[in-house]
Parts: sequence; structure tokens; C-alpha cells
Amino acid sequence: MARKKAGAQVKSKSKATTTGKGAKYVYLFGARTDGNGSMKPLLGGKGANLAEMCRIGLPVPPGFTITTEVCTYYYEHKRTYPSALRPQMEAGLAAIERQTGKKFGDLKNPLLVSVRSGARDSMPGMMDTILNLGLNDQTVEALARKTNNPRFAWDCYRRFMQMYGDVVLGVQKRAGEDHEPFETVIEGLKHERYHQDIEDTKLTVDDLKELVKRFKALVKERAGREFPASPRDQLMGAVGAVFGSWMNDRAIVYRRKYNIPTEWGTAVNVQAMVYGNTGDKSGSGVAFTRNPANGAREFYGEFLINAQGEDVVAGVRTPEPVAELKNHLPKTYQELERIRQTLEKHFKDVQDFEFTIEDGVVYMLQTRNGKRTAMAALKFSIDMHKEKLIDWKTAVMRNPADQFEQLLAPVFDTAEVAKAKTIATGLPAGPGAASGQIYLNADRAVVAAEKGQPVLLVRLETSPEDLRGMIAAEGILTARGGVSSHAALVARQMGKVCVCGASALEVDYQKRIVSVDGQTFKEGDWMSIDGTSGKVFAGRVKTAPSEIVAGLIHKDEGAKKTEKFKNFQQLMKWCEQATRMGVRTNADTPEQTSNAIAFGATGIGLTRTEHMFFEGDRIDAMREMILAETLEARKAALARLLPYQRDDFAGIFRALNGYPATIRFLDPPLHEFLPQTQEQQADLAKKLNVAVHAIHARVEQLHEFNPMLGFRGCRLGIGYPEISAMQARAVFEAAAIVQKEGIKVRPEIMIPLVGFKKELDLQLEVVHQAAREVQQEQRVKLTYSVGTMIEIPRGALMADEIAQSAEFFSFGTNDLTQTALGMSRDDSGSFLPHYAELEIVKKNPFATIDVTGVGQLVDIAVKRGRATRKDLKLGICGEHGGDPDSIRFFEQVGLDYVSASPFRVPVARLAAAQAALATQR
Ligand code: PEP
Ligand code: MG
Repeated sequence: MARKKAGAQVKSKSKATTTGKGAKYVYLFGARTDGNGSMKPLLGGKGANLAEMCRIGLPVPPGFTITTEVCTYYYEHKRTYPSALRPQMEAGLAAIERQTGKKFGDLKNPLLVSVRSGARDSMPGMMDTILNLGLNDQTVEALARKTNNPRFAWDCYRRFMQMYGDVVLGVQKRAGEDHEPFETVIEGLKHERYHQDIEDTKLTVDDLKELVKRFKALVKERAGREFPASPRDQLMGAVGAVFGSWMNDRAIVYRRKYNIPTEWGTAVNVQAMVYGNTGDKSGSGVAFTRNPANGAREFYGEFLINAQGEDVVAGVRTPEPVAELKNHLPKTYQELERIRQTLEKHFKDVQDFEFTIEDGVVYMLQTRNGKRTAMAALKFSIDMHKEKLIDWKTAVMRNPADQFEQLLAPVFDTAEVAKAKTIATGLPAGPGAASGQIYLNADRAVVAAEKGQPVLLVRLETSPEDLRGMIAAEGILTARGGVSSHAALVARQMGKVCVCGASALEVDYQKRIVSVDGQTFKEGDWMSIDGTSGKVFAGRVKTAPSEIVAGLIHKDEGAKKTEKFKNFQQLMKWCEQATRMGVRTNADTPEQTSNAIAFGATGIGLTRTEHMFFEGDRIDAMREMILAETLEARKAALARLLPYQRDDFAGIFRALNGYPATIRFLDPPLHEFLPQTQEQQADLAKKLNVAVHAIHARVEQLHEFNPMLGFRGCRLGIGYPEISAMQARAVFEAAAIVQKEGIKVRPEIMIPLVGFKKELDLQLEVVHQAAREVQQEQRVKLTYSVGTMIEIPRGALMADEIAQSAEFFSFGTNDLTQTALGMSRDDSGSFLPHYAELEIVKKNPFATIDVTGVGQLVDIAVKRGRATRKDLKLGICGEHGGDPDSIRFFEQVGLDYVSASPFRVPVARLAAAQAALATQR
């Protein structure tokens, strides 16, 4: 009953409108559970899954979730709460008190709670968490008496002060400080009393009491106020801080990177504390039901004895692998194994969960679908299908298309690795090979990457502030922390190569050096890391292609036998079964064409013929043609170009072996082919035996203020029909040659930048004339079609008329975006990043199609084009053809195919299959 009502509330109204009287802001979990796993928009991922775990009988400490609607309300009402929230929270606290037999603020048996954020999609480490809330000078004594463990009680108190001081009271590292101020106080005390850096667990009650005293002074000095003593004040402060952390810098950066809308907001979870730090039968851990780095079906994770959860993820102490728990606490380990199985059976996906062991008893604090590398995602999907946990369509959907390129990423060249010097070994946390110049701080890493250097970010451990540096780096290397540390988690998600916990590294932030194995590395020196084996190498190590590339492109038989290769092939087979749209490639050479076909492309969607003119001495003939002053001279130069073009096309037709090829006629403005500097012009003059000033004059004459809107595209072929005639003749002569070799040939001639039907008609005449001539001369019958690019708004709007002449359309979304937005595709780099920051655009419109704007033009052209010609073939050959989000849109508008560069063909195939499956669902 409760379940039904709550679900209805999520759907019935948008957020912030369900905030009237009687609205429900607080959802209980525990003995009574109001929510369930499907309520992530309202309860956040953590809250919804805590509820779901309660429903399937897993051991979860009781608590309640404050909804994401309260977060929206909070920001819309100057950081205040709806009046009904407090009473509902009181009722929630009372429910926890009843179930635990403890009381909040009680002097006999005090209840302590954790306060945690929980957005709809998990944002690991980006927002704030507070543990042990409810402690003050009195309750700490009560806790000490009740547990008969003063050390434990005082340790909880100092931890709480540290977290609360940092998160709620803002006592944090100042510019120029390398350490957290609370940590500096701890280190100071350790050195004062023990003259060395002892472990935290060695601190005595007396030390801890002294720390509490010093922490209070630190808070007073830095925050200008007393540390709050009232548990209820503490609670409201913590709730405010968690909501506040939704808008902190790192959360904003993270949301931008992963396209999480700001409107979603976060929920807050208040939950009874359980303690992993009560002694040797207690501990905390983070585990995955399978290995999220390589996909192996093994219990994967780590734990720390006598520690709270934050210690594990913070990476301050290096934890032990979860399998070791068998030796410490065998019964507890068995229970965890049971939980692992239950989780996978219920959620039918790999789970990443947090647990605490209190005196041998396991409690679940969180579960979510585990972040994974593309390699692990592939293996999970194939294995879980074999295990009959999921069907093949689900298996296809389980592979994130935007990470899929990782599978094609290079690995180290084995011969090079054998020569390289291993200087340290850490945990393999993010697979792949990376070589780069080291930087020890995120800001400097960003600056170096902006200069074009491959960067390796090296840190003792990473914290969320390092996010920008991690994004900029090729790879991440840390000296401390385990496979579920922040560095590992974030790296995996970003598809970055990562090695962590390489404890042999001594990282000196001040001197900006790393010492290891008797060697010293300065910032800017080279290191290489293997995120699959965990090895760290001195210097630069060459990389080699992944097994998939080796198998498909280099036909390496050994690579074809690997599991990764076989899994990839299985997935691609399913994609073929699921897809509606075809996937073609943008290729200009036979080699590119063969590569794309090996990756599964079924034709060429765009050959840019102009690229062919830059090779060897063809450019000279091209320049001669441009410089020619008479039609005869131009034709003579074109005649020299023709054999080159014919050979190029013949090579491509052979590589295609029967698949269609869309060949686009010359597109860029002519000045792009001429030398621009005086020196180059003088060289050319000598070569062609003409006067320099003649070249200079022609360059001047061809100069345009807006070349992208100038004399280019079909305007060239209309101004100089002999150019189109030469290109058409080259296509048909090549077709005739290859057809005579017994290979099927399907040329599709494409006229660029058409806005008027008449433009296309004029070019059609030239093409058909050439076809007639060649067929007669060669005595062959060729099958070909002629179509156009739709890449300027007028072309899209007049698609019904243009389709009378065009047999196909291919959307040139690069130019269509440029012309529809009035934004130069070559100059947008100067302002688009700022636009993204201000969220004027959600994503770069040149990478992901602007669905609401440019998308309308595509939609209009599809509808109007097909109204004229029912069987009009429709494709896309702009860069968007390899972008998963854009592909989803192209599926929706009903294009026949997308075309992507060869190495993006697998991504496009996966995205096209997923788009088709999503539409079916
Ligand atoms: C386009 O404009 O989208 C296109 C494919 O053509 P080009 O990038 O060559 O202008
Ligand atoms: Mg274009």
C-alpha cells in the first residue's frame, strides 16, 4: 500500500509542486519501509536501494530519506525548508529510536546517526557525508559507559568533529596548504607525544580527548564560532550542508561531465550508526559482486578491520582484499558471500556495496549498480547472459556506448615492456596503457595538458578536488589507496588508465618530486603505467593496439583467441540482430575503408574527395588547375588529375567489395589548396614555371571574408562544371574497371551544400552526361544514384522540392549545425567552453546534435523529403554519426543509416542497436 502511494507521487507531479500541506518529505526504511528501488528520482539512488534492500530482507540499519523535492524547495526558497519537514523528521527519528532502543541526545544510551547525500545517479565522493552525529561532551561519556569502550567513544567524537568541521563549518584546506587542517592537528599531536607518525588506532583515550579540545579551538579560530553541542542543531546543520554540497564546485564539474541535470537535486539519508571501529571483530568494507576492472566473476573489494567506512574509500590506510576476511572472521565472510549472491539475483546486475561489521554482524549501508570499465561491462554482459540472469537484449543495453571506445584503446607493446624498467607495482584499478609526463598537482596537470603534453597525474591519494586534473590526465597513479579508493572509482568511470596504492612511491609535494627505486623523477619527467597489471615503468613505453584491433584489423590469430575478442564479436552479432539503422563509414582511402569494414561497416557514407588531392604530386596538378586562366588550361590540368582520382575510387570500390560508396564532389573553397606564405608561393612558381606575382594575385583574388559561406560546395561545380565532369568521369571509369573484375560496384554521387533544387539539377546534368559517355565507351551498364547533402537550413526547409531530383539525402550535420546556429565550427572553441559552463548549451553542439534546434531541421527535411519520394534514402555523415546521444535521435527520426569514422564504427553499431531496442521498449 505504502509502495503504491509513494510511486504515484513521483509520477503525478513535477518536483517542487508537491510541496503543499500534507506532502510527504520523509520516507522511512527499516521495520517499516515506505519506498522502493524504483523511486530513485524522489529518494535518490542510495535511499531507493536502502528501501529495496530492506524489502528483500537484507540487514540494513534503520533510518529515513529526505526527498529530492526538499532539495529543490531549499534552492527555490533561499535555503529554507518546508514547514512540514521538521515534524516528519522528528517522526523519523522516533522510528529509529524505537527500533534501536537508543535515544537521540540521550545521556544513557545515545543514538548516533549518519547523514549522507544521495543523488538519483551516484556521484561518488562529490558530495558530503557526516558520521557519528549526535555526539557532544555529555553523550560521548554516555557512549563510553554504554559500550564500556572509552577509546571507541572518543574516537567517534573526534571523527565526527573532523567531518562536521570540514563539511558543515567549512574548516578546510586554505590556498597553499597541502594538508587538511584537522589532519595537521593530529600529526602535530602525534609528533609532540610520540615523535613519529603512528597509526590512528594507536592513539589513546587521552590523546583523543586532547584532540577534541584542539579541534574545538581550531573551529573557533577558523569558523569564528563554537562547535554546536545540541544534536538537533547538528542534524539540521548537516542536512543543510548535504543540500548545500549539491552546488559545490566539484559536484558541478562532475554533473557537467556526466550530464546530470542540476534540477534533479539530492536526497538526504539519515540512518542509525553501526560501528566498524569497536575492535578486532569489527570493520568496514566496500565490495563488488564481480571484478569491475576486468569483469572476472570473483568477489572483489576490500575491508579494514576496526575502521569506519570513510577510512576505506578515503584511501588513507591501504585496506586488505575482501577474500582475506575468510581468515579473520570466517562466519562473517560466509554471510557476506550469501549477501553477494542475493544482491546479484535480485538486482540482476553487478552491485557495488558498502558494509560494516559490528562485533561480527554484517550491516548493509548501500548498494548500487557498480561502475565498471568498458572491458568489465562487456564481460559482465556476456557472462550474465550465459548464466541466464539477463536476456541478450539486456546484455546489449548493459554496455555503455559512450565508453565503448575504451575497448579499442592501446595496450603496451609487449616487446617494449620487456625492455622497460619496472619501478613499482600497485593495484590495477583502471585497465589500459598510459605513458605521460608526471605532474603532482591537478592544476599543473591541467595546464600541461592544455599545452598538449600527455600527462600522468601522480598523487599520494586523490581526493574529489583532483577531478579536473584526472580529466586532463592520460593516466592516474597513486601511492596509497585501494581498488575502491576515490582515484580508482572515478578513473574507471572516466575510462582512464589507473594504478593505485603503489606504495613504493615517495611523493614529495613540496619539492615536486617522486622518489622510487633509487631514482628521482621531477615534474615533466616521463613514466608509464599499466592499469591492467598494476606495473609502473620509468620513462616512456610504446603502446600496441588492443586485441580487438589486432584481431580485426591486423588479422592476428592469437588476438582472435582471446576472451575479449570473442566477447566483442558476440556483442556485435547481437547488435546486428537488434539494429534497424545501418552503420557506414567516413573513409577517403582503401585502407580506411577496409578497417571500417573489419569493424562491421556496411558501406561508405562519405568520401571527401578533396582529401585525395593533397597526396604526393597531385597537389601540383590541383594548383595548376586553380591557377589556370583559360578553360583549356583548366581542362588540361584536370586531365592530369583524373587518373589519380580513378585509381583512388577503384581502390575504394575493391575494398568495399559490393557495399555502396557515397562519393562527395569537391567541397572546400579553392584557396585552401593554394600556398599561403611567400616562400611557398615562390616554390610553386618555380615548379610550375610561372611568375610569383601571378600566384600571389590569384591567392588575393580567391581570398574570402567568410570562406565557409563563400565559393564552396556545389557552387564550385556550378562555377566550373568541368571539375564535376572530371570527378564524375573518374567515378564511372573506376566503376567500369572494378565491375569488369567481377566486383559489384554501387557508387552514390553526392552534391554538397545544396540549398536550391536548381543547383542540384545543374550538377545532375553533368553527372548523367559523364555516366552516359563512360557506359558507351566502356560498353558497360552501371548502377548508380545521385543525391545531395542537406547541410544548410534552406536545403532542409526545401527538402520536398529537392527530393524531386535527389535520390538520397545525407545530413551534413557539421555544416548544418554551423549554419543553423550561426556558429563557426572552426572558431567555436573560443566561446563554447564558456557557454557550457553557463549551461547555455548542455553539450558541445558540434559533437552531440542540438536536438531541439538543429534536430528540427533534420526532422523537417526527413518528413518533407519522404513526402515527395517515399523511398528516399536518408543518412547522416557529420561527426554526430559516431556519437551515441545523437544516434538515438537519428533512430527516432527514422534515418536509414549513420556514418562514422572507422574506429568509431563499433560505438556507432552498439549505439544504433541500443537506440533500436530502446524504441521497441
Ligand atoms: C558536414 O558538413 O557535416 C560534412 C559531413 O561535411 P564536411 O565536414 O566535409 O563539411
Ligand atoms: Mg559539410
